[in-house]
Amino acid sequence: MTDMDSSEEHDVDIPSSLPILPVRDVVIFPYMILPLFVGRDISIKAIERSIGENKLIMLVSQKDVNVESPSIKDLYRVGTVGTILRMLKLPDGRLKILVQGLAKARIIDFAQTEPYYVGKIEKIVDQQQSELTLEVEALMRNVKELVDKSLALGKSFLPDIIVLIENIEEPGRLADLVASNLGLKAEQAQELLELTDPVLRLKKISEILSREVELLLVQQKIQSDVKGEIDKTQREYFLREQLKAIQKELGEIDEKTEEILELRKKVKDAGMPEKVEKEAIKQINRLEKMHPDSAEAGTIRTYIDWLVELPWSESTKDNLDLKKAKQVLDEDHYDLEQIKERILEYLGVRKLKEKMKGPILCFVGPPGVGKTSLGKSIARALGREFYRMSLGGMRDEAEIRGHRRTYVGAMPGRIIQGIKTAGKNNPVFMLDEVDKIGMDFRGDPASALLEVLDPEQNFAFADHYLGVPFDLSNVMFITTANLIDPIPSPLRDRMEILSLTGYTAEEKIGIAKNYLIPKQLKEHGITDKNIKINDSALMQVITHYTREAGVRNLERQIANLCRKVARKIAEGKIRKYVISPKNLSKYLGVPKFLPEEEIKKDEVGVATGLAWTETGGDIIYIEATIMKGKGTLTLTGQLGDVMKESAHAALSYIRSKARSLGISNSMFSNNDIHIHVPAGAIPKDGPSAGITMATAIASVFTGRAVHKSIAMTGEVTLRGSVLPIGGLKEKALAAKRMGIHKVIIPKRNEKDLEEIPKYIKKDMTFIPVETMDEVLKHALKNAAKRRKRR
Ligand code: ADP
Repeated sequence: MTDMDSSEEHDVDIPSSLPILPVRDVVIFPYMILPLFVGRDISIKAIERSIGENKLIMLVSQKDVNVESPSIKDLYRVGTVGTILRMLKLPDGRLKILVQGLAKARIIDFAQTEPYYVGKIEKIVDQQQSELTLEVEALMRNVKELVDKSLALGKSFLPDIIVLIENIEEPGRLADLVASNLGLKAEQAQELLELTDPVLRLKKISEILSREVELLLVQQKIQSDVKGEIDKTQREYFLREQLKAIQKELGEIDEKTEEILELRKKVKDAGMPEKVEKEAIKQINRLEKMHPDSAEAGTIRTYIDWLVELPWSESTKDNLDLKKAKQVLDEDHYDLEQIKERILEYLGVRKLKEKMKGPILCFVGPPGVGKTSLGKSIARALGREFYRMSLGGMRDEAEIRGHRRTYVGAMPGRIIQGIKTAGKNNPVFMLDEVDKIGMDFRGDPASALLEVLDPEQNFAFADHYLGVPFDLSNVMFITTANLIDPIPSPLRDRMEILSLTGYTAEEKIGIAKNYLIPKQLKEHGITDKNIKINDSALMQVITHYTREAGVRNLERQIANLCRKVARKIAEGKIRKYVISPKNLSKYLGVPKFLPEEEIKKDEVGVATGLAWTETGGDIIYIEATIMKGKGTLTLTGQLGDVMKESAHAALSYIRSKARSLGISNSMFSNNDIHIHVPAGAIPKDGPSAGITMATAIASVFTGRAVHKSIAMTGEVTLRGSVLPIGGLKEKALAAKRMGIHKVIIPKRNEKDLEEIPKYIKKDMTFIPVETMDEVLKHALKNAAKRRKRR
């Protein structure tokens, strides 16, 4: 748009009066050549006059672009005198002229305002620069460099201009030339035009240029940032497409497409409910859009795998024939008649009512009494899968319900894991050790479990990981526990408790002969032609090598025997090995439990109590002894707080009854008493040893021995009442196992005797008592001998 004629002479003669052409939006500098379109009447007339005379015209800018017919006030006074190089009349009546700036001039006055402006003008001459100082030279160089820089940053200059700029030696001209090519705002340009000091003008230009360069830099950075983003994705896309093309060319299949197709098929075949299928497809679509190796794709893949592998619609068909069920239960279990009856009733009702919302069976009893194997038999009888899961020590709700998928390494909860392992949606699902379930800050697994077991809710069990409901209503849940009391009560309310007490030695022999031995023979690949275990040897195993309510260790010892024999057979020493009490220790080592523990004769200060632990009933001996001292009570044998308090209560009661028992009061103040409960390493607690401790204390102070053939259980109060206790059945069984046939029990437990099976009660005597006096009457021998100290 501009050009300049450097050969033009500086000193042009300017007439003192010239027509004025107001221009809008542009400031014309000397030497600048540019085309102008002229449409306004006053402008056309001014041009016509100029053409008619000397072709010179005064070009001044208008202050406000929007003013259509400017008055004198609307015009700047400083402008440029230009010459019209060419003029063209356009068809629409407008003129196109090409003007060149000649020299700066000022309007001193207006000679005429109609029909166009004519001004009295005066030429403006730049302040003369005597010589080129170093500073000016540096300034010029700086401006030239800035021009170069902005050029490099994308500012456009005409190539000729660049050459001109390079060669100009005059500060004022350089300033004008750059100014006229920068595309400045009109006001800014006007300001420059009016500066008559060339160096000042150049300084101003340098400032404007610096700012311009800075702007260009920021602009470029923004652009390159945006472009960088686009470039990266484009590049990756491009490479991937190339890779695809190469694979195709090589005949390799696109793994990802293959995988997606396969997943879609799997989802279709999985028989999912509609809602779940929708979710699965949604996830597959997401996966399809991802880079196959990204971490998130991995997570989604695992999730989809879980969804497709769950047995949404796979179930076994129940073939419930009660006769067959009874047969299965009998095949697997010795005796347990009552329990079997109850199980058959339960199955019978289930058969009649498809979706039974009845209670959940809970087998309660010590380890090794056959709880798990009953569950397995039920599954076998129904033709269902069996899955067992232990709740022992579970404290975190997430173990039941799983973690949300946003967690790193999230997994479904154990219920869903179990269902997947079972492979069917209606297995017999055994939840072991419901009494061991815990609770802490990570939530309450018991309440989550409640949801699992509740038929009102479990048709849409919400696992956090799955995020879609799973129907658990066809699952047959069975629970087991060692003790009833620790089971959280909301859970207990949903359960039907079936107690398994434990077995007598005789029953254990029956179980061993009919079930355990045949099973172990088979497992060790030998037959009854290789081994014979005599009944008497078996009895010895039961009494000397195991001490348990169940048969778990018994089974282990039998396996031990079979293993030893199997090895001999394998070594070629083939014959029939007969196991008898004599050679038993050769196979099993020295006996672990010696009958020496039993008291041989009635003794002073030792009373036989009965305890009830997780492992069933057991007998405990409570020893009391006195020695010279000041009346302190020492308790040893790892007793819990309740048991310790119970000992204090027992002592206080005996002290309060000293007179009637014939104990002199000084006995208590002059002696220390020590109560010990072996085995010292096993922690014990509970109030039920109260009467036993009181008996031992009474015995040691009176010197009357305790009948060794009597065992007892009951809590004692300070006033000597005997309060009821729990686990009577187990305790009775323990007494019987140890050959004790008389048991003192609290009167209020008498009703529980009905629940004890006849075979246990056979040749047992239960003595119900209400007061401690009665206990002592039955337990202590008459004071025939003189008091002796232990
Ligand atoms: P629990 O689950 O009560 O701890 P298990 O069911 O694991 O006990 O039983 C341990 C072993 O004892 C199993 O091999 C089981 O078959 C066997 N067993 C327990 N009770 C009986 C019984 N009444 N008849 C036959 N075998 C039994």
